[in-house]
Amino acid sequence: MLIKCSSHVEFQQFLRQRIPLLWALEEDRLMSFSRSLTKVWFLNLDPAACLLYKCFSSSMGRPVLYDPVCILRSLVLMLDLGYHSVTKWVQALRSDDILAVLSGFEPHKTPGVGTFYDFFDRLWLEDRKTRIERRFKLRSPIKKPKKKLKAGSKQPVKHPGVVGKLCKRFMNGRVPFPLRAERLIQEIFARCFVDVSVHMGLIPDPLKLVLSGDGSSLRTGSSPYGVKVCDCRNKGIFSCDCKRRFSDPEASWGWDSYRNEYYYGYSLYVLTAASSVGELPMYIRLGQACRQIFNWCYFFS
Ligand SMILES: [Zn+2]
Repeated sequence: MLIKCSSHVEFQQFLRQRIPLLWALEEDRLMSFSRSLTKVWFLNLDPAACLLYKCFSSSMGRPVLYDPVCILRSLVLMLDLGYHSVTKWVQALRSDDILAVLSGFEPHKTPGVGTFYDFFDRLWLEDRKTRIERRFKLRSPIKKPKKKLKAGSKQPVKHPGVVGKLCKRFMNGRVPFPLRAERLIQEIFARCFVDVSVHMGLIPDPLKLVLSGDGSSLRTGSSPYGVKVCDCRNKGIFSCDCKRRFSDPEASWGWDSYRNEYYYGYSLYVLTAASSVGELPMYIRLGQACRQIFNWCYFFS
């Protein structure tokens, strides 16, 4: 049960109270976090609070211990400081009062790993049962394609004309993918970052926007061979084609036209505002590595 998310004004007030105490204890260390402090001071996540309320019950269950807005801010800070492991970040929050305060948590009252993963689950709008079933579903490994493509060439299009069909559907007022699981994350990104960039004038002339799109390979850490669950090994058979379990069942093999090699993972596609300061990202989409993602997008109105 979520009763209230803290506002940005309340967070700034919290910083005003806590920073002088940290300054008195660790002046030099706090100075080394000045860049991060400036970022969280200006990072207004109030638009995200309205969206996050929908992820929690307002009347049922135990009250949430940690403010979801602070968890979101903490995740932004985590990536800004170069942490890519939630476990290591949780340890850092517990041992470092400065990181806890910059996230919006009281020192020594920081969330654990489970809280962060529960937050991810809530943001990912997919039926939990379906996701668990897919994760434990056994299947044969997808073999790495043997035939290499020509240097610099892209993967062939699987469904020619599909972009035109999607555009037509969009022009008729229908949402191309109304149930995509990442829609809440994209909306938070649009409201908290893209809208603010437009408001600050970093993206000039938003009604005459020039977008540029580019894809890149995102390699997963999971094995493309899966985990064997059969007992062939006990019988002395070390090479079998039995179905296996995959820790990242959505990952697939794709062609990296920059490095001219196959990779296992996802295809990341980013649309950026070409005329903006520093080519700011406008829309981010993750797709299967075996698919090409083209220059189409759907913006939240
Ligand atoms: Zn087997």
